[in-house]
Amino acid sequence: MSARIIDGKTVAARLKDKIAAEATRLKGEHGVVPGLATVLVGNDPASDVYVRNKNKTAEQLGFHSVSFHLPAEASEANALAQVRLLNDDPKVHGILVQMPLPKQVREEAVLDALDPRKDVDALTPTNAGLLLSGRATLVSCTPMGVMLLLKEYGVEVAAANALVIGRSLLFGKPAAQLLLAANATVTMAHSKTRDLADHCRGADILVAAIGRPEFVQGDWVKLGATVIDVGINRVEAGDGKTKLVGDVDYATAAERAGAITPVPGGVGAMTIACLMRNTLIAASAIAGIPLSSAS
Ligand code: NAP
Repeated sequence: MSARIIDGKTVAARLKDKIAAEATRLKGEHGVVPGLATVLVGNDPASDVYVRNKNKTAEQLGFHSVSFHLPAEASEANALAQVRLLNDDPKVHGILVQMPLPKQVREEAVLDALDPRKDVDALTPTNAGLLLSGRATLVSCTPMGVMLLLKEYGVEVAAANALVIGRSLLFGKPAAQLLLAANATVTMAHSKTRDLADHCRGADILVAAIGRPEFVQGDWVKLGATVIDVGINRVEAGDGKTKLVGDVDYATAAERAGAITPVPGGVGAMTIACLMRNTLIAASAIAGIPLSSAS
């Protein structure tokens, strides 16, 4: 069997076009320009690239886009003051505080200070709780990206056996909630799970978010299953070069899967698009204007 490749890049490009069109309508009809603010604390080069890409994409979609860079030694009080300023800024509808933070700035303190209506990463306890209650407006970007990919490719989620490997607040937990809300029978696996390969073999939808390169083996994949690889791992490629691989051994998994996301070009491509979607949703919710085509 040769798996259908789930092309996140193409789906993300289409989603961004829709978001740009909707942003133009919001501005033209209501004078509302969706605004995204990013906050970077410290000098982590990867975080710097992520934040730049987020601001650049926001600009491309016609959003108001601002970035704040605090030094690595910034105090927690400084970081919280920045977040509170943005909470009160009417031009800003989405606030993204790039993680990880330097150790003197507690992630919980930042999330507690963040206005949940502007929490476009959906990491605050309020938004996590709303998701659990089936009442979420803002949903964590990467899990939402996965659900949109499943929908786009016509993957039957209702009644499917879905396995999510990984239980992070950022991905695993919200992904499991979304799959459950879509009527899958959901199993969550983690580092203490026994017989992981057997769990995988029972999964119609196998979602891997582990952070271990090529960990899930092809012979763990049920014939015809949909494999969603969330992992992004940089590994040696020889010649002193590096390359990105996922948490699934793509070559062997693709021989058994019915459909599979590549790395790169799969789930990762959806994350920034979904961040923009959340910013648009936050802008419309704060302004009290319904959206016509945000997804
Ligand atoms: P994380 O917070 O480090 O969580 C990793 C999870 O994997 C934990 O729940 C851990 O279990 C579980 N795990 C570790 N070793 C395992 C094993 N041997 N067997 C089963 N489970 C195991 O990571 P994360 O933030 O969720 O990210 C996971 C991966 O997705 C990373 O590669 C990250 O780069 C990638 N990611 C990509 C995007 C994107 O935009 N595409 C977004 C977010 C994350 P315990 O809880 O028991 O420790």
